[in-house]
Amino acid sequence: MTVHITAVAVAVAGVTVDTRHWIGGERVASAGTFTDVSPIDGATLGEIARGTATEAEAAVAAAKAAFPAWAGTPRAERARILHAIADGVEKRIEDLAIVETHDNGALLRSHRRGVIPRVAHNFRFFADRLLRLGHEDFDTRGHTNHVAWDPAGPCVLITPWNAPLMLATWKIAPALAAGNTVILKPAEWSPLTASLLADVAAEAGLPAGVLNVVQGYGSEAGSALVSHPDVRRVSFTGSVPTARTIAAATAANLTPASFELGGKSPLLVFSDADLDLAVDLAVEQYDNAGQVCLAATRILVEDSIADEFTRRFVAKAEQLRQGDPRAEATGIGPNIHSRQLEKIDGFVRRALAAGARAVIGGGPNTELGGLFYRPTLLADVAQDSEIVQEEVFGPVLTLQTFGTEDEAVALANDTRFGLAATVVTGDRERAGRVGAQLVAGTVWVNCFFVRDLQAPFGGSRHSGIGREGGTWSFDFYCDIKNTVTAPRGWQDHG
Ligand code: NAD
Repeated sequence: MTVHITAVAVAVAGVTVDTRHWIGGERVASAGTFTDVSPIDGATLGEIARGTATEAEAAVAAAKAAFPAWAGTPRAERARILHAIADGVEKRIEDLAIVETHDNGALLRSHRRGVIPRVAHNFRFFADRLLRLGHEDFDTRGHTNHVAWDPAGPCVLITPWNAPLMLATWKIAPALAAGNTVILKPAEWSPLTASLLADVAAEAGLPAGVLNVVQGYGSEAGSALVSHPDVRRVSFTGSVPTARTIAAATAANLTPASFELGGKSPLLVFSDADLDLAVDLAVEQYDNAGQVCLAATRILVEDSIADEFTRRFVAKAEQLRQGDPRAEATGIGPNIHSRQLEKIDGFVRRALAAGARAVIGGGPNTELGGLFYRPTLLADVAQDSEIVQEEVFGPVLTLQTFGTEDEAVALANDTRFGLAATVVTGDRERAGRVGAQLVAGTVWVNCFFVRDLQAPFGGSRHSGIGREGGTWSFDFYCDIKNTVTAPRGWQDHG
């Protein structure tokens, strides 16, 4: 891997990325740095500015100063600039894709063809949605009610490493569209594309201070940002323990916060299902080496088809080629970090010690070494066991069987999470019946990962608080105001 590092920038596969913060339209260094490592081969990608309370303070001040002008910018102009950012992202798809793959290890082909184009779409969608945002005026005994969607102020956005730019822009686009200013704190394991986005946004004409990027650790830069009293919204995507810490910090200032958290989603396969489809959907759960919040990691199969399903699943999963995520033929790449790999392996070892059986996988890929973990399916797992109840966030699925529809629903709902659920059945009535009983923010029937930005997205129970997407994003990022005007009191008596 060719990496050239200086104090302020790094060249990753020929793409120059500034490693400093972006605050108030300027690059800002910190006294300290942290090392960013590629999960592909452990190469050092760069020394990244390590933000502290000082940079957090500066970024919030910049966002606060830029807020009135941006909030007062006409909607059409804000939308135009968001489309210009989308244009800039589209021009740099290749750069963004290659840097993201080096930084977080997800497949280059999916970054090129799916994820980065989707980043551009995030800006276009919310730019267009902004122009249609409204609420009909209504009458109360001759009084007019007018609902306004006022921007809230500086928003802090805290994002994880599994889909860095995709998840960040999913928050940035509606926050900016609504007229807010933003401070993004990307995850410390994948900080690079956020910096490239700052370049793209500046080139697109986004005024200084409207988008700020503070790099650094969650416990330092992140905690200083979420606890800042001048921040009007905090939107967080990440793990449940971090959400608890952030919820406490935002509670102190009564800052509205939204949380997109982890999951332990079920995939229910009924005996009337198209079995090949079910197997395809199940194997798809190894995407991004299992580091997908929505992943249906608990496969629940009806008793009568369990053997046949397992046979076909194993055959299909064994075709997955594991290796360098830059290679076109690779189906599963590395996990993000040695700490994540150890965490994954810890879950699997404890499950095996508790009596689970590895149908496939069950440990790191020793041939490849590094951060590659074998796609794993564990059977003979108890419903109340750790491996069934806790999010692993790696290529590890469990297999359980059920006898009846009621049993399937009970198993599916029996965790503290409620992010998503997938139902595979040939019976429409069953799909409706089962779907209605599942506790999940999203239910997919005979499909997986079909996501439209118009749709609400979020989790129930410990999978999150609030919904993003469409009008739900604007609900969160706006101070919604109703103005009631009387028919009387006018000089013209009109
Ligand atoms: P994490 O909670 O460890 O970190 C997420 C972000 O929070 C990082 O930027 C981190 O620096 C920051 N952070 C950590 N401590 C902080 C603090 N005290 N104050 C402010 N910020 C702090 O999560 P992760 O390991 O990066 O991501 C994986 C988790 O994210 C998984 O649980 C996954 O399910 C979840 N996730 C959820 C969704 C969703 O949409 N529901 C999407 C992707 C990932």
